[in-house]
Amino acid sequence: MASRSSQEVPAAARKLDGKVVVITGGASGIGACTARLFVKHGARVVVADIQDELGASLCAELGPENSSFVHCDVSDEADVAGAVDHAVARFGGLDVMFNNAGVVGPLGVGIRDATREELERMLAVNVVGPFLGTKHAARVMVPARRGSIISTSSMASAVAGAGPHAYTASKHAVVGLMRNAAAELGRHGIRVNCVAPAGVITPMATAAGMGGMDVKTLEALLEGAANLKGVGLKADDIAAAALFLASDDARYVSGQNLLVDGGSSVVNPS
Ligand code: NAD
Repeated sequence: MASRSSQEVPAAARKLDGKVVVITGGASGIGACTARLFVKHGARVVVADIQDELGASLCAELGPENSSFVHCDVSDEADVAGAVDHAVARFGGLDVMFNNAGVVGPLGVGIRDATREELERMLAVNVVGPFLGTKHAARVMVPARRGSIISTSSMASAVAGAGPHAYTASKHAVVGLMRNAAAELGRHGIRVNCVAPAGVITPMATAAGMGGMDVKTLEALLEGAANLKGVGLKADDIAAAALFLASDDARYVSGQNLLVDGGSSVVNPS
């Protein structure tokens, strides 16, 4: 069966017709899946990433009328400003900013072995990235008096022990940033939210130092820790949540950290 994001969406059912979107970390994993889904829903997407080859090949797949790749290191303000300006120049505005780029460190490192360098590396991408993305999106959205800003947090922003220490700290910070921006930007008609995934198989997850685990073993581990048994979280599910937050279906939803974790964060595991 075709995946949800590969099915054609009839014109009347499209949620983002004519909307212009920037997706950071758009070349891979959740970002690439979201870019595909958003284009199906009529959006024009700027894929902003440091992986130039992967980003360019995704845009070739999506078509130049629907997408454009821009090299963007989210820790660099000129790059983030450039990605936003590219969306305006190429597609005429900015309706949705998806601050999705992120990095994770190795799992299972205790606080006594955690390093300041690792914390600074996490903050530079996972916090500075959404901070700059929100700032520069607001620069365009405030005069337009509309827009939706979404950042990818994590289930680690809501429960303890779901990620490495530095990663967890960075994802809590993203939620605080999102709430403050929602408070300020609401008066300008701009909604600001986070989407918070549980563990989902992407290049990031497989590279997270899980002892060289193969994908099947990793899937079994994630399934074992999940509340919603037998379903299996997919990047498509995160893309679907981002689509909701991006679209007018969520026209009165702001300041929220939308957990896509099958309920795992609210269940007592014992
Ligand atoms: P991924 O590795 O497939 O994608 C991350 C993308 O971010 C990559 O394309 C990478 O090149 C890009 N990136 C990294 N550093 C960057 C930088 N400095 N500037 C621009 N782009 C940069 O991983 P993913 O799982 O799709 O991760 C996407 C987001 O989802 C991240 O914010 C991550 O923290 C979050 N998340 C993932 C999981 C999971 O289990 N996969 C769970 C919770 C949250």
